[in-house]
Amino acid sequence: YGDPLKHPQKENYLGNVSTTGPRACYDEGKRGSETVFFDYGRKYKTNIRVARIFNTYGPNMQLNDGRVISNFIVQCLKNKPMIIYGNGYQTRSFCYVSDLIDAIVKFTNNDLMFKGPINLGNPDEYKIVEIARIIKKITNSKSKIIFKKKLIDDPLRRKPDINLAKKILKWKPQTSIETGLNLTISYFRKML
Ligand code: UDP
Repeated sequence: YGDPLKHPQKENYLGNVSTTGPRACYDEGKRGSETVFFDYGRKYKTNIRVARIFNTYGPNMQLNDGRVISNFIVQCLKNKPMIIYGNGYQTRSFCYVSDLIDAIVKFTNNDLMFKGPINLGNPDEYKIVEIARIIKKITNSKSKIIFKKKLIDDPLRRKPDINLAKKILKWKPQTSIETGLNLTISYFRKML
């Protein structure tokens, strides 16, 4: 929901989104779909759920997905340069896919019939340059880390506040970044 002015982000934070920038279709698309779901739920009494999914990674991602973890793993396994956009101090909080699926299933089936929105993600926050170093170390790669121009409207930091999910779903992520990356890297090794 744009470059956040509040940190970490709670569900009642309404975002800071450019309506015209190169990321706007992605950010506004997510926001628009929340509106459509709530309208549909009100009009047709549909049993809806709205989850706000923060950065997620894991096996079965496409090799050319274009997101940071898959890009870094592919670059490391091929000993090609790892490209960081900007100075690498921007942060993200990465959730392992099985933890996220677990949360979605609990949310779908929750007894309280809570519709959301609810944040689902892992609040452990990392600088992108730290993620680059961790992946380089685990893969034992010879890749060089290189820096390119910052992307337009690239959010500087992102971290979900998951207190609502902990309370309502009795859920929190279980997989550490090292464990999750090891499982993801094993998958990518098989695919390359
Ligand atoms: N990023 C990077 N190199 C890449 C891909 C992404 O430095 O090869 C950066 C990107 O600029 C952003 C962060 O990593 O700051 C996360 O990007 P991603 O596209 O994975 O997710 P999102 O920006 O949607 O959170």
